[in-house]
Amino acid sequence: MQYEAVIGLEVHVQVKTRSKMFTRVAAGYGEPPNTLTDPVVLALPGVLPVMNQAALDQVIKVGLMLGCEIAPVCKWDRKNYFYPDSPKNYQISQYDQPICRGGVVEIELPGPSRNVMGEHKQIPLTRIHLEEDVGKLNHAGTESLVDYNRAGTPLMEIVSEPALHSAEEAFAYLTALKMVMVYGGISDCDMEKGQMRCDANVSIRRAGEQKLGTKVELKNLNSISFVRDGIAHEIRRQITVVEAGGTIVQETRDYDGQTGTSQSLRSKEMAHDYRYFPDPDLMPVKVDEAWKDRLRAACPELPFDKQRRFFGEYRLPYTLTSVLVPDLSICDFFENAVREGRSIRKQSSTPDPTLNPQAYASSFGGPQPMSVPPAGVAPSAQGAQSFYYPTGTWIANDLLREVASAKSTLLNCRVRPEHIADLVKLIEDCVISTPIAKEIFREIFVTGEMPTAIVGRKGLRQSTDAGELEKWCVEAIAANPKSVVDFKGGKENAINAMKGFVMKQSKGKANPRLVDEILRRKLAGR
Ligand code: ADP
Ligand code: MG
Repeated sequence: MQYEAVIGLEVHVQVKTRSKMFTRVAAGYGEPPNTLTDPVVLALPGVLPVMNQAALDQVIKVGLMLGCEIAPVCKWDRKNYFYPDSPKNYQISQYDQPICRGGVVEIELPGPSRNVMGEHKQIPLTRIHLEEDVGKLNHAGTESLVDYNRAGTPLMEIVSEPALHSAEEAFAYLTALKMVMVYGGISDCDMEKGQMRCDANVSIRRAGEQKLGTKVELKNLNSISFVRDGIAHEIRRQITVVEAGGTIVQETRDYDGQTGTSQSLRSKEMAHDYRYFPDPDLMPVKVDEAWKDRLRAACPELPFDKQRRFFGEYRLPYTLTSVLVPDLSICDFFENAVREGRSIRKQSSTPDPTLNPQAYASSFGGPQPMSVPPAGVAPSAQGAQSFYYPTGTWIANDLLREVASAKSTLLNCRVRPEHIADLVKLIEDCVISTPIAKEIFREIFVTGEMPTAIVGRKGLRQSTDAGELEKWCVEAIAANPKSVVDFKGGKENAINAMKGFVMKQSKGKANPRLVDEILRRKLAGR
């Protein structure tokens, strides 16, 4: 029997604001217990809530980014329940009028390999609403301690339609949603800090069936990988139950990511009755067009839109975009370096490398993949046609590696987009070779000195002196008789041994493109 899994996710995301949802006390994480409280958080008699507009702004912004319909009026409801994590005995939430309805999250499924773009899908959303977070219980033996630092933190809930069909899709959905939140400056979505939490609703049905099966809700999935593993486990469990002639009961289960097992927490009979009603202490808030326009202007380009633009505008390969795109600050750094690179090329009199792609590519050590890979197809090797690709790779490989090993950040490090633009131009103009560039890069990282200045100060300009290069090439041919025979016998790669010899003699300062030309000429007996 073939089954189809159906999954809908309810994701809670803490909204990054200075103060809490209905009072001025600071929101925060990692402070000593019960220090981020005030009479409103503790629900002392006589207090009244006041809405934090910054939190509502952030949720409207997310709604605009995801293409949701924004409610004309923001209305608040009380969700009543009794539990020590909530001193008021109710949570302020939104029941029948969420601030956002509809919208979609674009996801990317894993491709056949990491170098290849996977299939994209649009996952429809049901709603996004805003509420306040609850406190935290810490259980120790027979005692339970309560910390209200988290209580009252602005929290949004993003509810998807039951439109995901595998654990991988759920994983991709959370990854994409997190990326959007981080791009928008809405939340850091650190799951370890509880800034993003996910409940997964899972059911199965026979392949081809339209009617939804009975759903089981998985709780306490505290990492994106645990969500994936928990869903995969639950799908297998349900199939096993049904195959054995059993039926799925509607319940909430607790998945333990460490052991990979789940157990029932509560069944449908114990479902809460929250007795929602409009909060009489809070006025509804009208959200007009001007308000939405102001937030629309603050919405960043969405990650996958940016990736598509990087394919088209800069002809970057998929692998490179998948390093740049997840981090907006890296994307901005790259685009600033490109802008800088364009401006120094306008001023310089050297020929435009885009006019001679072959020569340009060889100055970077041969042809490089520049194609836009359609889904499922590996990038093919075309010539490098612009400085965009080397600019991107210096940032994605060398700069990010140095930043990581120095435990620094891109914003705090001394290398600026100008440095990268300058370095790429020096290589392109054959002033320095790539190995020399790698050598001085570490220095740039430490001192912040411009590459051109270092090259001048240390006399690192590579040799384009024809006499000197000719001499080294003659020596290289004399010292590598076997390579000469091999090369003449058709082994193209045999030339590399001779090139290596010249590079060594010149201490890396010989211009590789000229060396290649001279060697080929001499080997051809001309
Ligand atoms: P509840 O009232 O129990 O919270 P909702 O209808 O609000 O249920 O749905 C909560 C989440 O469960 C949503 O993300 C929805 O897409 C998902 N969901 C609802 N029914 C199913 C089902 N049969 N199988 C899988 N997911 C479902
Ligand atoms: Mg629910």
